[in-house]
Amino acid sequence: MPATVIVGAQWGDEGKGKIVDLLARHSDVVCRYQGGPNAGHTIIRDGETFALHHIPSGILYPGTTCVIGAGCVVDPRLLVREIDDLEARGVSSRDLKLSGNAHLIMPWHVAIDSATERHLGRLQIGTTRRGIGPAYADKVARIGIRVQDVLDPKILRQKFETALAEKNVILERVHCVEPLELAALAEEMEAYAARLRPYVADTSLLVDRALKEGRRVLLEGAQGTLLDVDHGTYPFVTSSNPVAAAAATGIGIGPTRIDQVIGVAKAYVTRVGEGPFPTEIEGPDQARVRELGAEYGTTTGRERRCGWLDLVGLRFAVRVNGMTSLALTKLDVLSEFEEIPVCVRYRLRDGAETSDFPAHQSDFHSASPVYETLPGWREPLDAVEDIEGLPAPARRYVEFVEREAEVEVNLIGTGAERERVLMPRGLEALAGRA
Ligand code: GDP
Repeated sequence: MPATVIVGAQWGDEGKGKIVDLLARHSDVVCRYQGGPNAGHTIIRDGETFALHHIPSGILYPGTTCVIGAGCVVDPRLLVREIDDLEARGVSSRDLKLSGNAHLIMPWHVAIDSATERHLGRLQIGTTRRGIGPAYADKVARIGIRVQDVLDPKILRQKFETALAEKNVILERVHCVEPLELAALAEEMEAYAARLRPYVADTSLLVDRALKEGRRVLLEGAQGTLLDVDHGTYPFVTSSNPVAAAAATGIGIGPTRIDQVIGVAKAYVTRVGEGPFPTEIEGPDQARVRELGAEYGTTTGRERRCGWLDLVGLRFAVRVNGMTSLALTKLDVLSEFEEIPVCVRYRLRDGAETSDFPAHQSDFHSASPVYETLPGWREPLDAVEDIEGLPAPARRYVEFVEREAEVEVNLIGTGAERERVLMPRGLEALAGRA
């Protein structure tokens, strides 16, 4: 801290929620800087499970300001539902702030997302069909509707009508699906707009002021580095920039304000949806990892593909994020395996081996993993309370990751509950205050 970014170091679902939650307790402001409601953080608190999609996990701490930044896209229906759900469980949304520059996901974005995926058939990207990609596309095409438009019902109505007229043509003529009905939808959106109005704020200014006052700001990324639209495994990526640098643009602060970048990686790897995945496990061990790690999507319930730890990908994530430390989650999931393969290099089509992530897509698509096999520990990590208590092979596994990825591991996840973490150098080191 004061400004710490938490970023996924793989293809998302690394268990960022737990680390964000841990650091949120010591933060004054917690911000989301990109993405939409496909990113579900799961936080287990006192046996109660909170699946958050839009709202930063800081919301669970009274007095913590929670920001949804300009780089995000917001579905008003889902956000209002999320606010209502939290309120119903006694969690106040009073300190939620919504950037006026964030873009809104409209019903046509959802309709177009589904229609497009269906048309692509075998070539589909595997989106969550929540309209996130189409909303970002409209933002870049400069025809999007923004959160600040909810402040003026007349402007909102005008933009809504103009956009829907065009989108209905696309829905009918291109995708051959039913058009959306203006009057009912506009009325529904106006009701949501009224609900969201109190949360709209100048969040760039808010974060700047907080930093000037020496308050601690946490910037949480959704998805992960390999899903970054510019640096990930395009086209099987998300439509925004999860990488740490995007925290600055997504909030509206300068990059020099960021002090610390914590990457989060699982002790193995998962991937949702389509796309190349060099370390995907062959045989029954894949299902074993999935079961042990409960690897099913938070938002969609979809099965995640499971693979062994990919250090080539992790080195890349350390590089493109300027990672200052790493949180290695779900080490406990590997406890049952006698031997644990770890990918240290890729072998390319011409037989050459590389420890750097291939810059060209075709090289990545045809890369095969070169594994080093580390001994497993074959004992549960339930009772482990500190790093010294880890079985020696588990400790060696962590040290191997540190050495190979050239980054300090400052947090190790040993179980699903939020207290199940080890911090070898203490919370102070993790929070960048050591
Ligand atoms: P996120 O999107 O990166 O926050 O990841 P998810 O929310 O999809 O995954 C988090 C899930 O992993 C939650 O159910 C957590 O309780 C669980 N989890 C997080 N850390 C650990 C860990 O160290 N061990 C185990 N077994 N589960 C963990």
